[in-house]
Formats: sequence, structure tokens, C-alpha cells
Amino acid sequence: MTGWERWLATQAAEREAAGLTRTLSSREVDDPTVDLAGNDYLGLARDPAVRRAAGDAALRWGSGAGASRLVSGTLALHDELESELAAYLGQPAALVLSTGYQANLAVVTAMADRSTRVLSDAHIHASLIDAVRLARARLTVVPHSDVDAVRSGLAAALAAGERAMVLVESVYSVLGDAAPLVELAALCREHDALLVVDEAHALGVHGPGLVAASGLAGQPHVVVTATLSKSLGAQGGAVLGSGAVREQLVNRARPFIFDTALAPAPAAGALAALRAVRARPELGALVRARVAALADALGMAAPAGAVLSVPMSSPSAALAAQAAARRAGLRVGCFRPPSVPDGVSRLRVTVTAGTAESQWRHALAVLVDLVKEHQ
Ligand code: PMP
Repeated sequence: MTGWERWLATQAAEREAAGLTRTLSSREVDDPTVDLAGNDYLGLARDPAVRRAAGDAALRWGSGAGASRLVSGTLALHDELESELAAYLGQPAALVLSTGYQANLAVVTAMADRSTRVLSDAHIHASLIDAVRLARARLTVVPHSDVDAVRSGLAAALAAGERAMVLVESVYSVLGDAAPLVELAALCREHDALLVVDEAHALGVHGPGLVAASGLAGQPHVVVTATLSKSLGAQGGAVLGSGAVREQLVNRARPFIFDTALAPAPAAGALAALRAVRARPELGALVRARVAALADALGMAAPAGAVLSVPMSSPSAALAAQAAARRAGLRVGCFRPPSVPDGVSRLRVTVTAGTAESQWRHALAVLVDLVKEHQ
């Protein structure tokens, strides 16, 4: 055994002993399980027009974009997607990247440096946490949605002469709650700070997202990031804000500059999905109605997004409920420590407009029973 092999074996044994081993299970194309774990909130990944657009784009442009955006990878398709995304979200400009993860890395690393103070909500996504590390910015983690903590952090940054940035999600993926965007944006304007809002879980479910719904789109102290992989059913990410922000990213964001451009198929798929979201607002409305009905049936408050996180008494109770759901033909997610910020194990149920009504009614009944049994 080499030293590295010994190290790998020790790592695996430690994970196993702590009950933290993760495994992959692949799904077949005709898997009949009702998927209440994925993020295809509007069911557009399998929409015929979206699939056709993605397939046609691959035939027309090729399987890959062939180069990074600054070399020869920028396609007319990217321009079209960026201008329609910007128009829909009410933003002056958009830049698409190969994933939502890269979009978050790009905006933070291009806008923050060692002298920037970043106030980061305790529940933000791993991609934003990694982005702050990569930027080597001065980090303050603020308690979840604590406006007073942001206010004092911004005041301290202003007093210290630091440029400041606040990182939030408009809808948080674990708790499913919405950020106090209006208050945070007002604080950022007051303290000359930048509010970066990740709309990954709101775009589509809430039409153009909660920044737009809050009347904050296009404001110079607010920048939005989005993923094309959830409601838009494809792959890729975007940063939306002023033309100056876009230009800074094109020139400075290494996750943009040194990455091969978003491939034609997902770009065209996301564009077709975006048009579907615009034309069919009833899809988002159906998701919101379904998740509210599920929450009500479980005696919980309706979440802001498509995901309902149901607290369970222990990691093993959450796993048992997940396994029972699987036996009843449903795939639901399960959060356990250490991947939950507050240590509470949860069943994570993603509601989608893509589930047929009869399947949804079956799912609702099964979930109510099994939560009662295992909670
Ligand atoms: N931000 C948030 C809040 C997310 O939940 C995710 C995906 N889980 C991402 C960013 C990353 O997006 P992508 O999957 O497109 O890389």
C-alpha cells in the first residue's frame, strides 16, 4: 500500500465510523419513482419544447462551446440568453457561466479582495462560502437573516474604511425561508455596500425572482446570481447587474475567464425554459400552491420556495422516513449533520410542477403518513 492509499483508507474508515459516508445511486431513464428530491421545480428539464431546443442547439452548434468565452467560446446563443435573462429579471446586464457555482465564485472573487469586508449569512450556499475563501476577503458570518447584525457589521466596516459586501439567498434551500431583502438592500444603500442575492431557489418559482418582486432589480447596490439548473431545467449560472459589474467579471473573474463557455445544449435549453417560465406563470403558481398544501397537511408554515424541510427527531428517523418514502415510490431528500447549519436532521421534500396530479395526490398522502410515523 502506498502512503496515499493508506491515507485514503483511513479517511474512508473515519467517515464510515462517523456515519458520514456518502454514496451515489444512479437513476435509469425510465425510473418510475416520483422525484421529490431534485430541483427541476417547474418540470421543464423534461418539457418537450425545452428538450427539443437543447437537442437542436447541439446539432447546430456542436456538443461543446469549444473554448472559454474570451477566446472563441462566446456564441450568439449566449448573447441571446443573456439579453433575455436580463430583460426578464429586470436587470441592465447578465453574464452566463458554466454553472451556478461558478457564477457565485465569479461575482465574489471579481468584486471582493483582501481589503473587502464580507458579511455572509450563516445559511448561505457552499459556493458562496468557497467564493469568500477564494477572494481572501475579510469574513464576518452573521446570524441567519439577522438585520441588526448586518447593520452593525456594515457600520463597523464603514468606520474602518472597508468596502463591504453582504451575501444572502433570496430563498434559503435548507429552511426554505426568504431573506429580508428590502431591509438588507436599504442598509446596503445607506452604507454604500453591495448586496449579492443568490436567486437559485426563487427564480421561476417566483417568476423573475424576489429581487424583482421587491422592486430592487436594477438598483446599483444589488447584484443577483442565478442558476440555470433548477427552474430553468438545464445547466449553467448567471450574474445579473449593471453593465459595469458585467465588465468587471469579464475582465477579472477567473471562474469565467479560465473556464470553457457554457455548452450550446444547456444554453438553448435554459433559453427555451426561460420563455416557458415567462409564458406560463401558472407553473410557479402550481408549485407554490402544492408546497403550501403539503405544509398545511403537516401542520407547518408554508415555505417561501419549492422546498419543504421537515424537521425529524434524529438522523436515523430522517433516514428511516426517507427509506419508507422510497418503498412507497417517492424519492425525497434527507439533510443530516454536518450538512445542515443548525444540526437538525430533516426530510427535504421538493415540490415540482412536473409531477402529474394523481402522483402528487399519492405523494401527499404517503408523506403525511410517514412523517406522522417517523417524526
Ligand atoms: N446557489 C444555491 C443557493 C444552490 O442551491 C446551488 C445548487 N445547489 C447553487 C448555487 C449552485 O448552482 P449549480 O448547481 O448551477 O452549480
